[in-house]
Amino acid sequence: MKKSTSLLCLAAMGTMLSPVSAEAKDSARAPERRAAETLAKMSFEEKISLLHGPLTALLAPSKRPAGVTIGAGFIHGVERLGVPTLVETDASLGVSNIMGMRKGDVATALPSGLSLASSWNPEIARAGGAMIGSEARAKGFNVMLAGGVNLVRDPRAGRNFEYLGEDPLLAGSLVGKQIEGVQSNNIIATIKHFALNNQETGRNIGSVEMDEPAMRESDLLAFQIGIERGNPGSVMCSYNRVGGTYACENGFLLNDVLRRDWGFKGYVMSDWGAVHSTGAILSGLDQQSGEQLDGKPYFSDLLVKAVEEGKVPRAAVDKAAGRVLHAIYAHGVADHPLQPGQSIDYDAHADVAQRAAEEGIVLLRNEGGILPLAGSARKVLLIGGNADVGVPAGGGSSQVNPVGGLKRVVRGAESGPAAGFAQRGYGGVAPLDALRAELPGAQISYLDGKDAAAAAAAAKSADIVVVFAEKYATEAADQPDLTLGEGQDALIDAVASANGKTVVVLETGNPVLMPWRDKVPGIMSAWYGGQRGGAAIARVLTGKVNPSGHLPVTFPASVDQLPNPKLPGSDAAPADKETRALYGIQAGTKPFDIHYPEGADAGYRWFDKKGLKPLYPFGYGLSYTQFRYDGLKVTGGQNLTVRFTVSNNGQRSGADVPQVYVTRPGKAKRLIGWAKPDLKPGESKEVVVTADMRVLADFDAKAQRWVLPAGDVKVEVGTSAADPVLIGTARLNRLVRKP
Ligand code: BGC
Repeated sequence: MKKSTSLLCLAAMGTMLSPVSAEAKDSARAPERRAAETLAKMSFEEKISLLHGPLTALLAPSKRPAGVTIGAGFIHGVERLGVPTLVETDASLGVSNIMGMRKGDVATALPSGLSLASSWNPEIARAGGAMIGSEARAKGFNVMLAGGVNLVRDPRAGRNFEYLGEDPLLAGSLVGKQIEGVQSNNIIATIKHFALNNQETGRNIGSVEMDEPAMRESDLLAFQIGIERGNPGSVMCSYNRVGGTYACENGFLLNDVLRRDWGFKGYVMSDWGAVHSTGAILSGLDQQSGEQLDGKPYFSDLLVKAVEEGKVPRAAVDKAAGRVLHAIYAHGVADHPLQPGQSIDYDAHADVAQRAAEEGIVLLRNEGGILPLAGSARKVLLIGGNADVGVPAGGGSSQVNPVGGLKRVVRGAESGPAAGFAQRGYGGVAPLDALRAELPGAQISYLDGKDAAAAAAAAKSADIVVVFAEKYATEAADQPDLTLGEGQDALIDAVASANGKTVVVLETGNPVLMPWRDKVPGIMSAWYGGQRGGAAIARVLTGKVNPSGHLPVTFPASVDQLPNPKLPGSDAAPADKETRALYGIQAGTKPFDIHYPEGADAGYRWFDKKGLKPLYPFGYGLSYTQFRYDGLKVTGGQNLTVRFTVSNNGQRSGADVPQVYVTRPGKAKRLIGWAKPDLKPGESKEVVVTADMRVLADFDAKAQRWVLPAGDVKVEVGTSAADPVLIGTARLNRLVRKP
């Protein structure tokens, strides 16, 4: 067996400090110096103008400044001082174009966040970020609201598809790389939604009640890692309340955690319609975004008045404007003026989207090696899931109008807050077309699956059947349950009963239940695959691509396994007049508290702690080849380092995702690192994973320190959170670290 000498070092975070050169120190100081110099030349009105801005689409065309591309919003610059206007666009999955606000404008649509997280590949995140950032700049945007990293706590939450899964280390590492990619275009990226905005139900009013250690060890840790690695210019505070206080006026989150503890130097912008007071500036908010959506002009007229009346010191305005300027200089925005209307190499960008979609597909079941499709299959029947057009994305502010345009558009919600803007848009490369291109010798037909009996009858005479099942997810609405809905479970059951050679391709924004699983030998999760999702699915089905995705979320076996079987707030009473007067016009229900019984132990850690067996565990994913792990070496002490060898024992090249989990006595297990070695048949590679001790430590709120007690820990190298292959132990020293 060939042994490569390369070492894969992952997750070695924050354990070593490298010396900083004088030149680097100077360039790091430069944004501060430049911000201070510019600020000194600015009038009070000019400073105020940096602290608020409108949602562009709601402005009368006569009020839109020339040259500002229509997007999520803009912030007036100060031309005489070379401070550029900040032109903002959503977001993480491409340059969005919600409800066609830029008529006919298209952009490259990346796969969903859960697809990206399934790749477990930070380089895919960086490449996607760099690509969407370059399109944003070419279209005339210099601020991208890209960097969604809220943890998946509930698999019914409507925006999970935009985010990066349930683990803070995985999500934080990927978002950091995505931000780095976006900002490599001299534009600002925005990590969001800070913090604990883990569900859409009551997002404008619910209050998350969680103790500080639990927050620091979970959701906040994902942001902390993302900010350290990606250095975003901006943070977007969220709609919800935390501990009874709105996130956008939460001094603990914005002043204490973000600035004092993490040393964040950029600016905090509000989510659109998330500001409730002028005093928020004293709690750490710098900029009111989409201001028409708030009840009042808190950061313009009311801020001026508050300063005049002595309620807000002038210094607070200086500080906030200085932070906006800092981000502008630190990320090259002032030095690289926008020139909207640049050409974009959409073909090259489609390759980035396709590679991401391919690495994001997770093979969940492959009984009897039904996949890849046998070359002998002549009659292939595709059924359902709009596979004749393609399912690129979910709905809401992240929605991109893909290159080629949307081919089918259906309303995304009939009622509730999502009804105003949620669209179910179909387009991109259709799986049907892509499979026909991959298998020119086969006879490939398609049925929409609306008539289950007819589909089952047709399935009988096919060599192989592929049923596509989709579930729409959107911003502003959670899902009532985990079923596929729309009669799809019955359809799959009927088809699989008629033909045992049935494969199911899931295109969903969340985990789903699979009551038909035992009848279906092949199952893959392709999530929402962006504009090249169909092409990626075809290449995995046919074996041109060996699947390498692994789940970034647990698929529960039932809703009863969830920490909150009933979604918090789902039974809250509708808002009345008084509630709206007090909590703002976007408050859909009366206020309610959100308790997460799992605390820091979101996702697989809850399942581990409770001894629950999920449908598919976090980290799970099959390949068309087989991998073997051996040679585990664990060293403890001051650091925890785990070494082992991964070998490809099968017949095909493929990439694996071996994962390292560590369990402290009495605690739930935690992912401390992983690798993604790409191996030829017979090839081996050594993997080295070094733990960031914060991932293992407890947060001591009283001492305001991370504390890892001395003692033995169990180390597992596994193919998922529930499938350990190599097991070892290590003795760790006591470690204490600043937050
Ligand atoms: C979303 C943000 C988005 C903003 C601007 C809000 O509704 O929560 O994620 O960036 O709109 O479109």
